[in-house]
Amino acid sequence: MDCRTADKMIIRYIQRELDDDETAAFLKHIRTCQSCRNELEINYDIIDCLKALDSPGEDIQIGTGMEQEIRASYQHLRTVRFFRIVHYAVNTLVVLSLILTAMLQFRILYIH
Ligand SMILES: [Zn+2]
Repeated sequence: MDCRTADKMIIRYIQRELDDDETAAFLKHIRTCQSCRNELEINYDIIDCLKALDSPGEDIQIGTGMEQEIRASYQHLRTVRFFRIVHYAVNTLVVLSLILTAMLQFRILYIH
């Protein structure tokens, strides 16, 4: 992914509009590109400041929003990957059991 594409995705990432594959590609770019990371951090700092202004009684740490969101995104992607693996494993077992059942039926019907 180039910086231009990543820059266009920043607002969509913040608004959680990216799908899982887009999020993974975006985070991979952010990890290696300091310029885009700084841009993302500025956007989160602005959001944190606006939250602090909107709710003066609450203790909002400015500068922590981006790291929390990135950590949450990685956790979400790990969970999605885990369930994809479980899904593939279950599908494989179902197909293998259907093949085995068909072979046993064939044996019962034709080998006697
Ligand atoms: Zn970049």
